[in-house]
Amino acid sequence: MSAVPQTRFVEALSATVGAANVLTEAADMAPYLVDWRRQFSGPAECVVRPANTGEVAAVVAQCARAGVAIVPQGGNTGLCGASVPVGAQREIVLSLARMNRIRAIDPLNDTLTAEAGCVLADIQHAAREADRFFPLSLGAEGSCRIGGNLSTNAGGVNVLRFGNAREQVLGLEVVLPDGQVWDGLRGLRKDNTGYDLKQLFIGAEGTLGIITAAVLKLYPQPLSGATAWFGLDTPQQAIELLALLRARLGDRLTAFELLSRVCIDTALAKIPGTTDPLPAPHPWYVLVELGDSDSAAMLHQRAEQAFAESLARGVASDVVLAQSGAQSRALWSIRERMPEAQLENVKHDISVPLSKIPEFIARGAEALERAFPGILIFAFGHAGDGNLHYNVGFADPAANSALMRRRAEVNTVVYAIVDALGGSISAEHGLGQLKRDEIRRHKSALELELMRRLKQALDPQGLMNPGKVLGSSGSDPCG
Ligand code: FAD
Ligand code: ZN
Repeated sequence: MSAVPQTRFVEALSATVGAANVLTEAADMAPYLVDWRRQFSGPAECVVRPANTGEVAAVVAQCARAGVAIVPQGGNTGLCGASVPVGAQREIVLSLARMNRIRAIDPLNDTLTAEAGCVLADIQHAAREADRFFPLSLGAEGSCRIGGNLSTNAGGVNVLRFGNAREQVLGLEVVLPDGQVWDGLRGLRKDNTGYDLKQLFIGAEGTLGIITAAVLKLYPQPLSGATAWFGLDTPQQAIELLALLRARLGDRLTAFELLSRVCIDTALAKIPGTTDPLPAPHPWYVLVELGDSDSAAMLHQRAEQAFAESLARGVASDVVLAQSGAQSRALWSIRERMPEAQLENVKHDISVPLSKIPEFIARGAEALERAFPGILIFAFGHAGDGNLHYNVGFADPAANSALMRRRAEVNTVVYAIVDALGGSISAEHGLGQLKRDEIRRHKSALELELMRRLKQALDPQGLMNPGKVLGSSGSDPCG
């Protein structure tokens, strides 16, 4: 490989995708170079916006020849600094935003083929237009893109019933780090013909190749839905409530989100128009969503029976069932706006086995209070998946700034409990730059070595999203 000067390189890229789609001015590039939380940013030689798979392949081949690294980018809503350059070597940002076509819908095969740059909400909408349902749903769905969702193996609020992004994929089209195109766009639910290659690229955060299109699974549209808000005394009740609702309502239960009273107090104070859903305060809350192929009347009847049983058995203290779409949206708004209601704080995205959630919450509260007296814990999230967004901070701004500087110590306290309970330090947001180094303390040497070998096999030049997941290059993941 010979070093190609920047101007000649940019000219060559312009010849491939058109000069208008190669951004080099600082002001034009700025939004692509900083992440959503504005914690990570880095320089790029340019931002390239190809229009189709052929152009992506040509750009990747040009980068491989020039030895320039590529940061794939979708909606740039990722929370681990994975979608922006690191700045340790020559890099471009490759935005998939122009590749936003739905290529095909096959309602009888229950599949939709989308280009990587399709906004998630547009895919949900296209499925609905075909009288089908695409279940992946998360707070950023109006701007995140399916290529990013698959590359982070995104979770969201429907994982309990439908699984995370990985489970929505039947086939992929991928541009490999040398510019070859792998056409794996199969719409098969059964295909045992050796290694399931698509799985390698899902959750790889752009470090193994560029996803350009995917065949996604569709489901029947639910005919009815119901939203309920429970008040609880303890997290243990929440886990027992989950078991009861699953036993009585089966797959009708699609979301089960936990929130602590601290979260509700903050929402009431910070989000205008928020009202307390229950008359009396409770230490814990669970937001439940149900979907059914039966009528709303039948669903409500079933739900009310199960809810009455939960109160009678003492696994919930109070419950309200939304009586209108507006009430349901108001309940969901409390959950969805939780990230913006909080102060800047030290954030965690952890999972533990479901049965260990109460122990995690109890041990976390005790250990954090001991280390940082007076600390506020915002524990909320996808408890039905064993996944909590576990954020901690102080109400006092000075104390909070001091805590932010000690975030490594906070992480050590929280992650020690996660490890002790057999959990994960990144349940749904990935590693990116944020947890790239931390993960080395939580995965075995053999797991890291296997990851390194995969990286080396697929990206021997180390040009795909360097400095993310494993480190700066395929051969030195600890770099
Ligand atoms: P980006 O941020 O652009 O990229 C993310 C990673 O994928 C990067 O490593 C990037 O290089 C890589 N990438 C992007 N496109 C491609 C491609 N085509 N090929 C290869 N690599 C690619 N996440 C959840 O899991 N659950 C939630 O509930 C959730 N809620 C959120 C709520 C809010 C308000 C916000 C801001 C974020 C939330 N997220 C959540 C995080 C984020 O939305 C997800 O990680 C999302 O999947 C990222 O998609 P994106 O298109 O923005 O990807
Ligand atoms: Zn989440």
